[in-house]
Amino acid sequence: MKTVWVLGDQLNRRIGALADADPSTHRVLLVESFAKLRSKRWHRQRAHFVIASMRRFADELRSAGFEVDLRRSDSLQQGLDEHVDQFGPDEVIATEPASWDGLGLLQRNDVTIVRSNQFLCHYDEFADWADGKQRFKMEDFYRWQRRRLGYLMDGDEPVGGRWNFDDENREPPPSAPDDPWASPQTSELGDADRQVLDDLDEHGVDTWGRDPDGTWATSRRAALSRLRHFVDEVLPQFGPHEDAMVERSWHLAHSVLSPYMNIGLLLPGEVCDAVQEAFDRGDVPIASAEGFIRQVIGWREYVWGVYWLWMPDYRSRNALGADRPVPPAFTGAATTDMNCVRHCIDGVEQRAYNHHIQRLMVLGNLSMLHGVDPWALTDWMWSHFIDGAEWVMLPNVIGMSQWADGGRMATKPYAAGGNYIDKMSDYCGPCRYDRKQRVGDDACPFTTLYWDFLARHHDLLVKNPRIARQVRASERLSDLPAVRERAVEVRRLLDDGKL
Ligand code: SF4
Repeated sequence: MKTVWVLGDQLNRRIGALADADPSTHRVLLVESFAKLRSKRWHRQRAHFVIASMRRFADELRSAGFEVDLRRSDSLQQGLDEHVDQFGPDEVIATEPASWDGLGLLQRNDVTIVRSNQFLCHYDEFADWADGKQRFKMEDFYRWQRRRLGYLMDGDEPVGGRWNFDDENREPPPSAPDDPWASPQTSELGDADRQVLDDLDEHGVDTWGRDPDGTWATSRRAALSRLRHFVDEVLPQFGPHEDAMVERSWHLAHSVLSPYMNIGLLLPGEVCDAVQEAFDRGDVPIASAEGFIRQVIGWREYVWGVYWLWMPDYRSRNALGADRPVPPAFTGAATTDMNCVRHCIDGVEQRAYNHHIQRLMVLGNLSMLHGVDPWALTDWMWSHFIDGAEWVMLPNVIGMSQWADGGRMATKPYAAGGNYIDKMSDYCGPCRYDRKQRVGDDACPFTTLYWDFLARHHDLLVKNPRIARQVRASERLSDLPAVRERAVEVRRLLDDGKL
């Protein structure tokens, strides 16, 4: 018998090594590594999500006739060693892992590695596409993907005559009576879920955040149901408010499918196929279908490709020399009066989730303006979000949100003051701070830190044509010395958890 070793983010019969496995010739190994769980302070729902999904996948495989060795071990290495000692397999086979360190582990152990089909563009193909290019523009990659995968295409041209409907997808939040967003599906929790939580506690796993409440599916059947719900009920509204943030809805028309794609419960191809079919039936407008497919075959696969292209050096990028810790307001060690931050962190605490613009415009933006160490922020987001993984967090945080790679990925820092947050959200109205003020105790910390950021990194940023105009504007501020003085105070208060 051979062994197929399935990692915790490869939970799908159709992925790589498992796709060709047969119960008469292959047994399956799954290792719950408690050393990995103890290596970070995970959000409780994230830890539950992975372990419960692994256990349900093991049951699914047993129902399909496989012998499954679901092993609880201190580390992945120990789990493999124990399995080999007990079963003596002829060969151990695994699908290419999603992380750099995981690949090293498989290579050290002489595991036969099968090419991954978990993404639509393998990272070798991405490297070929990127070869010889000065800049890897996401839009160019996206069009290349559209053409070769055939989504929303009419021959060699895009359906609707345009590649990109982004301009229609940046509307500010609507007023409350117009809310069009369907509520997400939820699942009933059972004894198996309670057992996972008991096991986390028994093994001394340090977790943060609320217990699971059924928001997140932990089986393929339930994940497929979430996909159908998204396509039927949510997708027609997807798009216009992609960049909006409102206190009254944590999900708006976001798909909230990323956790399932990131651990294999759903595959990106089947998700995009479902969207294409809905578009072909005339059930969704082109702007919604295009906006969603761009997120999956464009941005998600682009992030996957650059992770593999730039690792392992990418982890240590820190172009702005940021070295402060993640603010206590993020970790639950302090509360905050910043309404936008409080609302986002409440969302993390309640369900291990913020949608992308909350991550980028509020938490990521504040971290960059403040000067948080980019790896510390990556690690925090990786462990606190339900869809976290190194491959997705590193480019999104180091490259996109913190500009720690000096512009390799994003052409300019994603920096914004309170005015922009006010334009795209309803957070500022009830806030104790004033988004328009740069100095004084009531000044919005984002606004103060935004102008200070431009001044602090003046010499670097003034050379960048995409942000030079704002840098020059900061030079002309009559109260810049007072702003910079207030910024020192703001950064001290943020570090002390008193803002
Ligand atoms: Fe956030 Fe500033 Fe708006 Fe308050 S005023 S919600 S701190 S952006």
